[in-house]
Amino acid sequence: MKLVFATNNLNKLEEVQALIPASIKLLSLKDIGCFEDIPETQSTIEGNAIQKAKYIKEHYAFDCFADDTGLEVEALNGAPGVYSARYAGEQRDDNDNMNKLLNALTNKKNRRAQFKTVIALYINDTLQSFSGVCKGKITKIKQGKKGFGYDPIFKPNNFNETFAEMDLNIKNSIGHRGKAVSELVKFLNS
Ligand code: IMP
Repeated sequence: MKLVFATNNLNKLEEVQALIPASIKLLSLKDIGCFEDIPETQSTIEGNAIQKAKYIKEHYAFDCFADDTGLEVEALNGAPGVYSARYAGEQRDDNDNMNKLLNALTNKKNRRAQFKTVIALYINDTLQSFSGVCKGKITKIKQGKKGFGYDPIFKPNNFNETFAEMDLNIKNSIGHRGKAVSELVKFLNS
């Protein structure tokens, strides 16, 4: 079975590929010749995931899934949330985003935050969605070189390492995307 994962993010592709049964061959956007920016104009994480999956189905006619992730920080009333990628501007730069978040939390005692991923699957003309949450805290400084995005400043609950200091299989087993993907896999196997 071939299924498009609507992403160009190689880190994500690697994370998800490690969780998907070998019988399902994942195709990236590059594999199907999609090089344009897919619109993400909705005001919720779920809305954006659905918008991306529908776009691929409608423009490329492939069964497909898309994910959207947001980092929700309690002391910032859930920001940056759905705007996580562009938090510090349209350049979507990970370091700029992390610096802006660390600045916004200067002097805040409450550093609780959660990652939330929604996966929208468009298969056989039906739309399904799956979600995963990982709770943790925003650190005061960046720690670690692995992963991507906000990983160097997010420490999941019950761990003394940030996501950027962890092996990928551990991040996958406790992380937001891993949880959403395992719901997706259960559905695909059912
Ligand atoms: P997207 O919706 O997956 O494109 O992600 C939105 C924002 O969250 C981007 O800035 C990503 O870099 C960041 N992000 C998504 N997933 C993760 C993750 O697993 N760890 C850290 N940052 C992430």
